[in-house]
Amino acid sequence: MSAAQVTCWYCNRPARLITGKGLYPHRPDLYAKRFWRCLPCSAWVGCHPGSTEPLGRLANSELRAWKQTVHRVLDPLWQKGVMSREEAYAWLAEKLGLTAEECHVGMFDPATCKRAIKALNHREVRK
Ligand SMILES: [Zn+2]
Repeated sequence: MSAAQVTCWYCNRPARLITGKGLYPHRPDLYAKRFWRCLPCSAWVGCHPGSTEPLGRLANSELRAWKQTVHRVLDPLWQKGVMSREEAYAWLAEKLGLTAEECHVGMFDPATCKRAIKALNHREVRK
């Protein structure tokens, strides 16, 4: 998959490919990483290791917070061995009506994050 061009889904303008050095000057461990960023929207997304293919959609601070919340309720499922990571994502995909390919937190918009959090919170109650 080629990713020569990534569009910011907030403003529909092309994002710029930058390095971690530009984004996180205080994190030398991230200097080699690449990110697509839209400066006016303060939105960015990392790339798959060794490529310029984005990991998902660009995220501003609001969406970054939503995604963190999804991970906070989703990750313990497989980290604590309630189910495998694969099973956890398959369960979530079914709840959200997504294909396995679409069910990546990095691709979620805020509305999908909220639906995921709700489904995960209900899961604990109902088992
Ligand atoms: Zn933008």
